[in-house]
Amino acid sequence: MNAPAQVKSAFDVARVREDFPILRELVHGKPLVYLDNAATTQKPAVVIETLDRYYRTTNANIHRGVHTLSARATDAFEAARETTRRFLNAPSTAEIVFTRGTTEAINLVAQSWARSTLKAGDEILIGEAEHHSNIVPWQIVCGQTGAKLVVAPVDEKGELHLEAVAAKLTERTKLVAVGHVSNALGSVNPVAAITKLAHDAGALVLIDGAQAVAHAPVDVVALGCDFYAFSGHKVFGPTGIGALYGRRELLEAMPPWQGGGDMIRTVSFEGAEYNDLPYKFEAGTPHIAGAIGLGAALEYVMTIDFAGALAHEHEVLHYATGKMIAIEGLRVIGAAREKSGVLSFVIEGLHPHDVGMLLDHQGVAIRTGHHCAMPVLSRFGLSGTARASFSIYNTREDVDCLVAAVRKAQQLLS
Ligand code: PMP
Repeated sequence: MNAPAQVKSAFDVARVREDFPILRELVHGKPLVYLDNAATTQKPAVVIETLDRYYRTTNANIHRGVHTLSARATDAFEAARETTRRFLNAPSTAEIVFTRGTTEAINLVAQSWARSTLKAGDEILIGEAEHHSNIVPWQIVCGQTGAKLVVAPVDEKGELHLEAVAAKLTERTKLVAVGHVSNALGSVNPVAAITKLAHDAGALVLIDGAQAVAHAPVDVVALGCDFYAFSGHKVFGPTGIGALYGRRELLEAMPPWQGGGDMIRTVSFEGAEYNDLPYKFEAGTPHIAGAIGLGAALEYVMTIDFAGALAHEHEVLHYATGKMIAIEGLRVIGAAREKSGVLSFVIEGLHPHDVGMLLDHQGVAIRTGHHCAMPVLSRFGLSGTARASFSIYNTREDVDCLVAAVRKAQQLLS
C-alpha cells in the first residue's frame, strides 16, 4: 500500500497472469480486462485445483467423524485456519473464527460483543467512508441497545484524519469500527494510529480489512487492533468464506451469536455448555471447501513476491490515475495521499451505468453504482461512480484499454 514510487521491482506480472486462467477469457470477442477487483478478485489455478481436489479426494464433514475422509477434511480445514493465522500474524488459531466473509464477521462482533456489552448512551464511532457492512450492523445493535452511532467525517480528498477521529472520541465511545481501505475511494486509513488513539480513550477497535488484505501485508499484532475482519474472495480465495480475528480474552468473554452443531460441548434440554474457541462461534457445518480454498489462496500470496507484486500494482494505479485525469470531462473521486487499488470516477454528461455497459462491450470489466457506500458518495454529491479497481495481475496495457474504452464511450454517448 505504501509502496514507494521509485521501487523498481523484478516482479514478473506476465508470469503471475499465467496463474489466473480466467485472464485468458474473451468477452464480446475481446481479451478480458478485469478491473473489478474491489468487488472480487480472480482465483489462481492453485485455488481452483485445491477445491477440485478437495471434492474429488477428501469431501466429508469435519470434527466428529472417525472415518479417514473426515479426519482428512478436518486436518485440511484446521491447516487452513493455521495458514490464516500466519497470514494475519495472529498469536493463536483460537483467535481465528471462520465466517462467510467480512459482513458476517462484523455482524458477529455486533451481535455478540456489542449487543451484550453496550448500554444506552454508549457510542460506536465509524468513519464516513465505511462500506454498508460496517454501518448497518452497528445501526442494528444501536437499535437493540440504545447505543449511538457517531461518524467521523472525511475531508474533500476522502481522507479520514486522526484529528477527525479524535474530535469524535468521548468517554462514551466503546468501539471504533473503521475500514482499513475504502472500497469507494481507495483511501488508506491510518488504522494503527486510530487504534492507538481509540485505546488511549478506552475504546476497542474493529478494522474492516476487506479491501486491505490483497493490497498490503496485514499484521494484527503490529496494528494492535481488537478485531480484524476480511473476506476470502477479495484475496484470491473462494466466495462464502472469510475470517474474524479477535483477541482471545475478548472472544472468551463473548457469548455465542448463533447456536447449533459444533459450537457446543454438551447439550441437554436444560441448557448447553459451549465449545472452546474458535468453535464457539462456528455453529453448523462450515464452508469446509471454502476454508481450504482460502488457505490455498493465502499460501499463494505468501509464496509469491508479494512486496514486488504490490509495488507493481501501485505503479499501475499511479499510471492509471495520470491517464484518466487527462481525459476531458472525467473527474476522479477520491484523492487521498495514500490510496490503494481503487480509481473511482465520473464523466460529465454520462451515467456511470452507461459507461460500465459500453466498457463491457470492449471487454473491460469495471463496477458502477454506489459500491455499498451510499453515505460517502452523497458526501461528494453523487449517487454513483464508475470504479476501476486493480490487482497484482493488472498491467499498463489494461489501463491503456480502459482509457481507450472510456474515450470510445464518450464518443458514442455524446
Ligand atoms: N467492507 C468493505 C470495505 C468492502 O469492500 C466489502 C465488499 N465490497 C465488504 C466490507 C463486504 O464484504 P463481503 O461482501 O465479502 O462480506
